[in-house]
Amino acid sequence: MDINLIRSKHRLLRSWDYTWTPLNKGYTDKILYINVGDQDIKEKDVPPVMKEKFIGGKGYGLRLLWDATRPDTKWDDPENEIIISSGPIGGITQYSGTGKSLVVSISPQTDSVMDSNVGGFFGPFLKFSGFDALELQGKAKNDVVVFIDGINHRVEIFEAPGEAVDSHVLAEQLTEMFTDNDNEKKNIGVVSAGSAAEHSLIGMLNFSFYDPKRKKVRLKQAGRGGIGTVFRNKKIKALVCKIPGVKGNLNNVVDLNSIMERGRRFNREMRELDDKQCQMRQVGTAHLMEIMNDHDLLPVNNYKFGSHPDSYKIDSSVWKRNFTQNIPDGCWIGCNMSCSKGVDDFELKTGPYKGQKVIVDGPEYENAAGLGSNCGIFDPGYIIESNFYCDTYGICTITWSTVTAFIMECYENGILNKEKTGGLDLKFGNSSDALEMLHQLARGEGFGLTAGLGVRRIKQLFISYGWGDGAFLNDIGMENKGLEYSQYMSKESLAQQGGFAMTNKGPQHDEAWLIFMDMVNNQIPTFENKAEALHYFPMFRTWFGLVGLCKLPWNDVEPENNAEMDEPAKVPEHVENYVTLYKAVTGREFDKHRLVEDSERVYNFQRIFNLRRGFGTRLHDRQPYRAAGPVTREEYESRAERYDKQLREIIGVDIEKLSVEEKMKILRKYREDQYEKLVDAVYKRRGWNSNGVPTIGFLKRIGMDLPEVIEVVKNYQ
Ligand code: SF4
Repeated sequence: MDINLIRSKHRLLRSWDYTWTPLNKGYTDKILYINVGDQDIKEKDVPPVMKEKFIGGKGYGLRLLWDATRPDTKWDDPENEIIISSGPIGGITQYSGTGKSLVVSISPQTDSVMDSNVGGFFGPFLKFSGFDALELQGKAKNDVVVFIDGINHRVEIFEAPGEAVDSHVLAEQLTEMFTDNDNEKKNIGVVSAGSAAEHSLIGMLNFSFYDPKRKKVRLKQAGRGGIGTVFRNKKIKALVCKIPGVKGNLNNVVDLNSIMERGRRFNREMRELDDKQCQMRQVGTAHLMEIMNDHDLLPVNNYKFGSHPDSYKIDSSVWKRNFTQNIPDGCWIGCNMSCSKGVDDFELKTGPYKGQKVIVDGPEYENAAGLGSNCGIFDPGYIIESNFYCDTYGICTITWSTVTAFIMECYENGILNKEKTGGLDLKFGNSSDALEMLHQLARGEGFGLTAGLGVRRIKQLFISYGWGDGAFLNDIGMENKGLEYSQYMSKESLAQQGGFAMTNKGPQHDEAWLIFMDMVNNQIPTFENKAEALHYFPMFRTWFGLVGLCKLPWNDVEPENNAEMDEPAKVPEHVENYVTLYKAVTGREFDKHRLVEDSERVYNFQRIFNLRRGFGTRLHDRQPYRAAGPVTREEYESRAERYDKQLREIIGVDIEKLSVEEKMKILRKYREDQYEKLVDAVYKRRGWNSNGVPTIGFLKRIGMDLPEVIEVVKNYQ
């Protein structure tokens, strides 16, 4: 690539110099506001009440987005924002998993508030450059790159017509362009999307990190909810942040020794226990493949089944062989969990980069299960190739997987055929046509464009065309709130059904992952137990997104004596680590109760933000029946023994003379009733009324009784 030629096409639109604010106890208390439409660039102070109530990360994103938008602001209105913020702990390097950022925007898919967490360098580098959050607003006329120069303390917006759009090329180009030598590359963070993000509603953002061992730019994804689509709609090609370097105590924490002590303790666990437990350093989250298959939880053929005889072809032993071993794979400096595994020198067989050898970041569990078994495809080569293309084209692999699986089931049921798909034969297992659909989306043509709408809109489209039965489409279309399900089977775990469908943004497992506690270990048998778990875990997990932490080091390795502790599912020793980290960074008084309380305020604010936009009530917590039970006879029969037993022993039905259809009907009624009872119990535990709206008394108790918040909820009491 001729970087100088590309650079020569730049046209500087605006340059803004600022006075650098160093971090103090994890914060700069400054926000960088950039409007790419009118090129207004300014610095804002973080008001003390915002810091106190919203903490950072997602909290800051939600607060800023609320203030910047109206209740009816659409995702593609210029005033919609993309906010990126890490959090007070984000950027330290002495404990694992401390480089996350949260991205917040109004989603093209859900029309509501979206948040997506991501690793990579940009979030921490933004802090080191002097800002706790970046607020992007407006729409540029032509493609722009925003450069935050944390060395010379200058922000530039320039038109950038020459750079590529696809992330694996663009991130390399910009890293090269803004450095004078290889040694500087570790000081650059790039955010970009890709060509499919331009033609779909399911676009995502790639955050780069430089891998000094491989000497390559790599990518982590803020995948969920279409924020990459918003990014390209604003005609932002990329964000670049450059700093002088990462060293010592840039967060200027109050007690570095305590952080280092906890960091050493955690590193010892990784050294001694990871190989015996999850093998995160060897296979990352892909270790889950056989565990899910063995417990009948692996999504197969659009979540119809939970296991498959061919699943061994894509299990963790396959990924272990494909991933380069014995090389650090942390997406942030100092992460000893080091789970960002990659396939090196993978030769692409299709698409615009056919024949090139590339590094593929992943596959993680979600990609292997989603692109693979959930689409009836057990070909590792296909999974790696489509993982790569989803990333570089800038679309969410989880969403794309669930969309493809849904389309395949429609095809197998005659709702689609070759005539309707423009010649694509989209049966389960047809990997080549699935890939072609992805390439079509990147080119902005054919049936790929339909797929890029996401499951909810595809359903609506098919129903409007009279293609298929609406009730069936709604039963098998795995979305809630307009967001596609992530790759776990919730049918046999009532708590996980709630963990998916009662989320704020839609069914992503980052709020609650309760399948093992509920289904496998039977630790939360009653509605009250489940409701308690669906209070604690979403609140606890929300906290990671407020402070800049990765969730994986919390429970993907556990202290050796964890099982002997009270409430082992909470991993109490690691919770103590986090309490110590937060106190040591910020110097604030803090304990494990305050951790949940801080999250609870933000969680409820997000719920009310949804309400302000016309969502956020019980209606929007409904789930598709495929998430709760067998929709088809084939599904029932695949687990007939289990379902028959439930009918006999739990529901108390004499099944001898019943047809499969009659049994399915009774089971469905029972499971739907159970879910409604769960919703009642969870709402009560969360301090919400029976419509899912936080009560004013509860909001006062948790300190989220801001006047603008009360104004929204008072009509729903
Ligand atoms: S655990 Fe994995 S995803 Fe989390 S920070 Fe470390 S390398 Fe990144």
